Amino acid sequence: MKVKTRFAPSPTGDLHIGSVRTALYSWLFARRYNGKFILRIEDTDFERSKSLSVESILKGLKWLGLNWDEGPYFQTQRLDRYREVIEIMLNTGNAYKCYCSPKEIEAERFKQLSEGKKPHYTRVCRNLKIKNINKKYAIRFKNPTSGKVTFEDKIRGKITFNNLELDDLIIQRSNGMPTYNFCVVIDDLDMNITHVIRGEDHINNTPRQINILKSLNAKIPIYAHVSMILNENGKKFSKRDNSENIIEYYKKGFLPEALINYIIRLGWSHGDQEIFNLAELKKLFNLDTINKSSSAFNIKKLLWLNKYYINNLSIDYICNILKDYMKNENINIEKGPNLKFLLNLYKNRFYTLQDMACNFRFFYEEFESFDLQSANKYLILKNLCILTNIYNKMKNFSFWEIEILSEAIHNEAIKLNIKLKEINMLLRVVLTGRAYSPNISSVIFLLGKEKTLLRLKKAILFIKNKTYVKS
Ligand code: GLU
Ligand code: ZN
Repeated sequence: MKVKTRFAPSPTGDLHIGSVRTALYSWLFARRYNGKFILRIEDTDFERSKSLSVESILKGLKWLGLNWDEGPYFQTQRLDRYREVIEIMLNTGNAYKCYCSPKEIEAERFKQLSEGKKPHYTRVCRNLKIKNINKKYAIRFKNPTSGKVTFEDKIRGKITFNNLELDDLIIQRSNGMPTYNFCVVIDDLDMNITHVIRGEDHINNTPRQINILKSLNAKIPIYAHVSMILNENGKKFSKRDNSENIIEYYKKGFLPEALINYIIRLGWSHGDQEIFNLAELKKLFNLDTINKSSSAFNIKKLLWLNKYYINNLSIDYICNILKDYMKNENINIEKGPNLKFLLNLYKNRFYTLQDMACNFRFFYEEFESFDLQSANKYLILKNLCILTNIYNKMKNFSFWEIEILSEAIHNEAIKLNIKLKEINMLLRVVLTGRAYSPNISSVIFLLGKEKTLLRLKKAILFIKNKTYVKS
């Protein structure tokens, strides 16, 4: 049997962590068994489907490298096929027309609820002898009224439903549109899907879908229902979590490798191993060790993994990704130190590309203003003389080397009898605009003479202006 899995999102919103995990599990399972992974967009719900969501889903999958072998198929392009099967089902008696109006259905529902019953469709049209041709109708599936449906869920084990609990579900609405539960079945059947891996919110749909498949004498695929992912507060993810869209993680400077590694471990394990690369996952992944309980999202762990990958993937690869990232942030790296050099020196300080871009920016661009608190503390009259001395000294340097720069700063500290730490902080504020940077001699070295002198001058002017305004 050739394994074939699918990811079948409804394009009603962005691609979020939960869906990515379903996609990832389906994709990996196909890759593990040299099977096929297909992408299907379930867009029959016209009112809620958006083309922007389709774009966002494709973009997210591509970013993560979850490539598909077939598709994307769009259900709205398969309407003829659904109608064809519905016609067959009407002819074989597996489906029937229901003439009940929404008003009648609602009235019945109300009555059942007031009698303390679970609302259900009473199947009044199932055996209608006289067909009222002039009335609008929906088409319902003739679900068996006795017996049970059982399936062996790969994650949850045996699950059984009583047929009587299942309504005769609508497979085509009165507006002629086939419904989700029906289209999924026909698609999975036509596309020879062997394993349906999806969210646990679909467990209740599964017996209905199996019954339709049975009525068509079709083979039943294997099902695996994946549990929910909860946010850091143990609640369902919501729009407020700001992590609804997987692309947000790109924007925040996460690497796809880290995200994949993180997401796979949200509910799947292989001993207590934490770090997995893709090649390894393609050999190891299976459905048997997926956890049935829900998993909680933990940003600290994701950050830790991201830092790990920043430091362990090849420097050229990280450098290229960072280049693109900085370009998107409008940082022009043409004029300034070699980015790979910067990375080599400082990469172990950072958790994300965003961190790096933000901290490397000052090497390439003049910063607009000093951090207020640091300026108040360091850019003061008392320090004017130190800065002027350093400026004059550095202006005459014909060699620009870390050792020489570091020695010059050191000597200045001794001469003026101030702590080296103080002078370093002062230079940090002067040259980077804030009180946090890597080793200051290496910063001065990488900035180069021209930028260093320019910034020293700027700070000297800043202090002079400030004191002038005050007096
Ligand atoms: N379109 C469904 C959803 O986005 C998934 C259907 C399925 O995987 O069977 O929830
Ligand atoms: Zn009816």
